[in-house]
Amino acid sequence: MKVNSSNNFNIDKIRKDFPILSRKVNGKPLVYLDNGATSQTPTQVIDVIVDYYSNYNANIHRGVHTLSQEATDKYEEARHKIQKHFNAKHAHEIIMTSGTTESINLVAHGFGSLLTKGDEIIVSALEHHSNIVPWQMLCEKTGATLIVIPMNDAGELVMGEYNNLLSENTKLVFVNHISNALGTINPIEEIIEKAHQVGAAVLVDGAQACPHVKPDVQALDVDFYVASAHKMCGPTGVGMLYGKEAWLNKLPPYQGGGEMIADVTFEKTTYADLPHKFEAGTPNICGGIAFGAAIDYLNGIGFESIAAYEHELLEYATKKLLEIEGLKIYGTSKNKTSVISFNLEGIHPYDVGTILDKLGIAVRTGHHCAQPIMAYFKIPGTIRASFAFYNTKEEVDVLVEGVKKAKMMLT
Ligand SMILES: *Cc1c(COP(=O)(O)O)cnc(C)c1O
Repeated sequence: MKVNSSNNFNIDKIRKDFPILSRKVNGKPLVYLDNGATSQTPTQVIDVIVDYYSNYNANIHRGVHTLSQEATDKYEEARHKIQKHFNAKHAHEIIMTSGTTESINLVAHGFGSLLTKGDEIIVSALEHHSNIVPWQMLCEKTGATLIVIPMNDAGELVMGEYNNLLSENTKLVFVNHISNALGTINPIEEIIEKAHQVGAAVLVDGAQACPHVKPDVQALDVDFYVASAHKMCGPTGVGMLYGKEAWLNKLPPYQGGGEMIADVTFEKTTYADLPHKFEAGTPNICGGIAFGAAIDYLNGIGFESIAAYEHELLEYATKKLLEIEGLKIYGTSKNKTSVISFNLEGIHPYDVGTILDKLGIAVRTGHHCAQPIMAYFKIPGTIRASFAFYNTKEEVDVLVEGVKKAKMMLT
């Protein structure tokens, strides 16, 4: 393949960074195409995890001793890396969480005290369950109404409808930056701008976008932006919430506990300043530090190179897969990332996934935590191949041959 013009992108070298890519599954070389569920971890990040537990494992922000100081410094350094990466104005606008799901729940919980009956929350038809359920719970609690931006056959949001749904009752808009089920890149700039015109806040779920693009929260003028480390070459169990300072000050704390308080008496507790107000208890210290290392790693490769290379993989895989008769791709927006959701006519996606696994190919099958999207297409689920910058054209070929084989065996 014509590897993209940027010179620093060396796929052979990159693949060597990921030890797992050289393992076998069912006697076949692993072809890992489930990056939309979780990404693999490079040695540069694994080393940081080993170093933490080998050399300076300690609780942070508490001890006067050396280890605690070192751990605190590294943890706060990671917060600054995240701040810089997302271009937040202040480091204290970055709240460390256990991941996207917790970040969303934190904001939803906070809005519980700000919404009343008659208020409206707009979500998109392309949402992950983690971005639907917390809002339903919030609506039940507050009497607010949940309204959905519809999508079209290409898996794109119908922006004309969005404009009609906005009103002075709209208090919040929640949308993912990139759909995990279809790969559609949503026009979040326009969504944010229009929401702000009616005075609504916007939360963007960046879980699926952050492995592919580098969002600038100030340029976007987004109110909240959330992501998980494990989809961007970091460990599981850690993620971030960016919130504009004014919003974070307005929201009440999420959980009570140590670390989030300034003063405690039995009569009254005063809360700590940002970001600690939202960080009760001992956090995933090692995970946070490794998150910082993952961001360094991705930036070392460069998001422009990543996007260009993944786009080539997407185009190649789309073309090759569509050569298979009876194969249908769901999500055909021109503006999409390297996710291909597809089905073979008359064959259940699960059966295809099982055969692919026998061939060492890891894909996701099912509804991808996005049942409303599956309902729209009237299908039980899809087979989803999601590519990362460490995948190759040769792996696409293995997938295509595997799908052909599955089709032969199942018809
Ligand atoms: C993966 C994903 C989530 C959930 O992330 P967790 O890390 O499981 O909390 C939410 N939204 C989107 C779009 C996702 O892809």
